[in-house]
Amino acid sequence: MTILNHILGFPRIGYKRELKIAQEMYWSKKISKSKLKKIGKKIRIKNLKIQKKMGLDFLSVGDFAWYDHVLTTSMMLGNIPKRFINSHNKINLDTLFYIARGVSCNQKSTYPSEMTKWFNTNYHYIVPEFHKDSNFKFSWKQLFEEIDEALLIGKNIKPILLGPMSYLWLGKTYEFTFNRFNLLDEILNIYKNILIQLKKKGIQWVQIDEPILSLDLSSEWKKKFIYSYNYLKCDVNILLTTYFGNVFHNLDIIQEIPIQGIHLDLVEGNYNILNLHKYFSKDLIISLGIINGKNIWKTDLLKYYTLIKKLLKHRNNIWIGSSCSLMHVPIDLDQEKRIKTELKILFSFAVQKCYELNLLKNSLNINNIDLLESWVLPLFTYNNINDNNHKNNNIKHQILNLNKNNYQRKSSYKDRYIKQKNKLNLPILPITTIGSLPQTKDLRDLRFKFKYGSINKKEYQKEIFKIIKYNIREQEKLDIDVLVHGEPERNDMVEYFGENLEGFLFTDYGWVQSYGSRCVKPPIIFSDISRIYPITLDWIKYAQSLTKKPVKGMLTGPVTILLWSFVREDISQQEIATQISLALKDEIYDLEKNGINIIQIDEPALREGLPLRDIDKEKYLSWAVNAFKLSVSDVKDTTQIHTHMCYCDFNDIIQAISNLDADVITIETARSNMEILDCFKNFRYPNSIGPGFYDIHSPNIPQEKDIIKLINQAMKIIPIQKLWINPDCGLKTRTWIEVNNSLKNLVSATKKIRENIS
Ligand code: GLN
Ligand code: ZN
Repeated sequence: MTILNHILGFPRIGYKRELKIAQEMYWSKKISKSKLKKIGKKIRIKNLKIQKKMGLDFLSVGDFAWYDHVLTTSMMLGNIPKRFINSHNKINLDTLFYIARGVSCNQKSTYPSEMTKWFNTNYHYIVPEFHKDSNFKFSWKQLFEEIDEALLIGKNIKPILLGPMSYLWLGKTYEFTFNRFNLLDEILNIYKNILIQLKKKGIQWVQIDEPILSLDLSSEWKKKFIYSYNYLKCDVNILLTTYFGNVFHNLDIIQEIPIQGIHLDLVEGNYNILNLHKYFSKDLIISLGIINGKNIWKTDLLKYYTLIKKLLKHRNNIWIGSSCSLMHVPIDLDQEKRIKTELKILFSFAVQKCYELNLLKNSLNINNIDLLESWVLPLFTYNNINDNNHKNNNIKHQILNLNKNNYQRKSSYKDRYIKQKNKLNLPILPITTIGSLPQTKDLRDLRFKFKYGSINKKEYQKEIFKIIKYNIREQEKLDIDVLVHGEPERNDMVEYFGENLEGFLFTDYGWVQSYGSRCVKPPIIFSDISRIYPITLDWIKYAQSLTKKPVKGMLTGPVTILLWSFVREDISQQEIATQISLALKDEIYDLEKNGINIIQIDEPALREGLPLRDIDKEKYLSWAVNAFKLSVSDVKDTTQIHTHMCYCDFNDIIQAISNLDADVITIETARSNMEILDCFKNFRYPNSIGPGFYDIHSPNIPQEKDIIKLINQAMKIIPIQKLWINPDCGLKTRTWIEVNNSLKNLVSATKKIRENIS
């Protein structure tokens, strides 16, 4: 019997977000390229040493990325959008950053590649661009450098590649008449070449990620899959890794392709371990993804011990691993000081997950469960306590008593529209922003001082009020119509609500990469959720007291709070979302009672919760939409509810978005060339829309004439009475100079259009 253990990837940001800090210093020219590279290397080495120390049988290499691993793959394949190719045809680390972030020099700016969500996670990747004349060439050999580095630490290296089929699927074609499969052969050629070179380096196993196997694939994709893997066949062993869901609807492909191992995600895939051996030939390695790469609870190793023991009767060659890459969880629980010890024993971060893999492997090898039992005991005890609390809790009964009316606003959108128009008296093409305004270092320091007690609540409030006042005055100067307080009190849109609601726990260093240098620190939902005091009221009330223009109340929606937190696993996601929604309902009631007439409830995560397969989508959308509607159903007709979502792929959920029945939705479009509008051509969206006329993700300043063009484009599709003008996301990551210049252009562009109309 052989059991080997491995992970699908380790977090790449560093224990204290060293990569983020280094990237940002490099971008602002505070450190040199060689210094940046040194820091990256240090992180990689440390990650490898952890895997080695934790007793993993393979050291995984290739999970590091300077910005994003899909972008790394584009670099590797030499798939560089033409606009970034310089006269010497040279590509380097700067090219990579330019593609991700755009470039501005000598008045000329080059727009970055699009960015979108990585399957059903909160990670974003840079979308590869495919054209008829795209050329591929093995150009970026970072992987081989990393392998050399790793070989100094251990012998059993497992390189990780994003698979060619998933790469091809994740990209975007920019010409209608062209079929992306035309590019396949060239891409495969490079992959094959890489595999051969890996073999020469003495590599035994290569992990090839094909997460698209969790999706519904057309017969053409299936055929090409088989074709591709037959093409790639060579001496090196391929572990085909699938994750984020079950892949048995694509079993025909997996059974037919020449691979040596298959990795299955047992957490999201919901397989029956005991049957697995029936589906695969005897000599195929099955790698069981049992350690949740997306959540932070300890694994019930006892359960897996028993199941794997049974599976071992049919198979003596089994690997155990993380369900997906560990990049979606924080690095090391041992860094945490804020979580009490009695709760800490419930959790497992990336390092502890490696430890779990070793513990289980050793226990299986020596046929002894003593250590496993003591590992999972706290989890069992905790679940029992939680279960008893939950049963007696008010919230449970409140949820059971909800009925259809609790999910519906009193009047139709048409009636609300007229009432809101009379009440708010806004100009045509009203201008607003998405909520946050620039967060300076001073502001972050201020929050830090308050959090760690070096200033008191009163002093803190006074300072935040000053910032809110500044924010309001700046927006008035710019002549924006619906103002925001700017969210200075928030470090993060989910963490802030978590900190002020009952039922959440916080980490000190629980960072997870969201995109590039952006990291988020998801709170942990560990018990029932409720609101004990008003959360945003004082800030918003103060902001409104400073101006005659309407100030938008700003909340994070239930689905986003749920999906951007690490959730408990003993009750359903639907139930957690409903609990959050009821808590937000109290907040919305307080805001309205205090004269706030516009309230925005952000749901940027709504789409990422969408199950990957069509058959599962409707159920999710129905409870997710209901969670949103439950929170706003009781507001007055004159209260205008906004929502905001930031992504551009709306086609498959447009009906659900419309079902939210928000009075105004603001969405991300600027970065995708207003492509989203196509979706509204085919679907008559009944309520008002702000499609996002300025891409806040890039430091580039949008020019007035370009914005005018975009607004004109939008006006062709969205009735002018229902069109709003706004940036495509919050502005907290931008500087005031960037924001002022950009918003100035946004306002002047809008005013020019308004003049033309009248
Ligand atoms: N209101 C939030 C902000 O402006 C929304 C952020 C988001 O969509 N991710 O920052
Ligand atoms: Zn957004």
